[in-house]
Amino acid sequence: MQANGSAITRRHFLQSAAAGVALAGIGAPAFVRGAAPLAHQPLPYAEGALAPVIGAQTVGIHWGRHHKFYVDNLNKLVIGTPFEGQPLDKIVMGTAGKADQQALFNNAGQIWNHDFYWQSLKPGGGGKPPAKLAKKIDEAFGNFDEFRKQFAAMTVSQFGSGWGWLVADGAGKLKVVKTANAEVPMTQGLKPLVTIDVWEHAYYLDYQNKRADYVNALIDKLLNWEFAEKNLG
Ligand code: MN
Repeated sequence: MQANGSAITRRHFLQSAAAGVALAGIGAPAFVRGAAPLAHQPLPYAEGALAPVIGAQTVGIHWGRHHKFYVDNLNKLVIGTPFEGQPLDKIVMGTAGKADQQALFNNAGQIWNHDFYWQSLKPGGGGKPPAKLAKKIDEAFGNFDEFRKQFAAMTVSQFGSGWGWLVADGAGKLKVVKTANAEVPMTQGLKPLVTIDVWEHAYYLDYQNKRADYVNALIDKLLNWEFAEKNLG
């Protein structure tokens, strides 16, 4: 299936909308003012491109329903709040840890995390990171195999729904961490480099209850190390 026909159309629309925002000072159309809906980011590859590690049906449902659900929810919930029209990262950081903003945070965090997850994977990924990132991994974990073991163990050990992450701390040292539900590493002052979704919807069709098999397969076969290295900054 060619997954991205409608997504590409949507992307072009959003680029046009963004251009409209940029032109706001010279009389942009009213519909872009303040409250342009947040985008359901297109997949960076076709729905079947991660198979057989993650099947097309899993990606189709995960991106097309779960991820989209958060986008649609947030676009409804944000109306009439101080966050209406704000970029996603502002909504995430502005609602984090606030009991009265929990619904906004949950949906915004999940959009942020899913956008990052799809980019954290690529067809034909995995293997060893490029040199600059490999050096940082060796400095923090001793060697790649030790990192690999710790990243898999940390991610698999998330109790219930959540995410496993490779991050850089405030001093630039790499660490592996996990977050629950919609939580993001940025609220702990950590810079995310790559993530693995361990909500059951991410793997149940392909791996059922064998979360460790899914996590290991992603690390070995799908992780986008170029994306992770780029995120080092
Ligand atoms: Mn998910």
